[in-house]
Amino acid sequence: MNAQKLSKRLETVASFVPTGAVVADIGSDHAYLPCYLVHNGIVTKAIAGEVVKGPFESALRQVKLEGLEKNITVRLADGLKAVEESDGVDTITIAGMGGPLIVSILENDKESLKSVTRLILQPNIHAKVIREWAIRNHWAVLDEVILKEDEKIYEVLVLQRGEMELSEQEILLGKQLMANKTNVFIEKWTKEIDNWKRILTSIERADDTTDIAKKREEVIRLIKLVEEALNNEES
Ligand code: SAM
Repeated sequence: MNAQKLSKRLETVASFVPTGAVVADIGSDHAYLPCYLVHNGIVTKAIAGEVVKGPFESALRQVKLEGLEKNITVRLADGLKAVEESDGVDTITIAGMGGPLIVSILENDKESLKSVTRLILQPNIHAKVIREWAIRNHWAVLDEVILKEDEKIYEVLVLQRGEMELSEQEILLGKQLMANKTNVFIEKWTKEIDNWKRILTSIERADDTTDIAKKREEVIRLIKLVEEALNNEES
């Protein structure tokens, strides 16, 4: 991967950046995504935010190497603190982290989201907590994609301002992903069910305490919820 040729995962994130947007890429590592967006004429102005010095320096180096210092500002900052009001950022990308870390970044500096109309989030795990955060904070899913690359499965969630109501099943699996039910979606959730069934087997060998009984009930409930979605022709 480099600034010319992104991974399929980051290319999917890039595909949701509106032309002419002002983007902040948080956790920007080598700044490949902002460099790619400028090189491809999708944006002319971007912020690359990084909290760790090493990756921050890599991002700085990359932007310089690509000759994009006029277009991309690299900032060493924790989460959305990389965004300044005068930047006029309207689109934020956060990719390659767990859902809970993405949520904590969004939750910690809500003021920085004032001018933002689109969030493109790519959790490696636990996309569910992002959907929960979106509902609580008046964001709605505009689009969502599930993809597989190098034997790993990723989700990309595109949020815009608005209200949405999702069932527990839709929060866990993604309403649109459930409707599309791609092979990658089926693979992800079949593996998850197998994993939960392994947990059930190990629980069955444990002493029967109240906690164990609760855990068993919860795992059985989750398996049922996901099996229903996989078997439902309409969903
Ligand atoms: N976004 C790139 C991608 O998807 O390929 C890099 C992903 S890398 C696994 C995660 C990056 O996020 C790391 O460079 C890490 O230092 C950075 N990061 C983690 N927490 C952060 C935070 N609170 N603010 C800014 N960057 C953060």
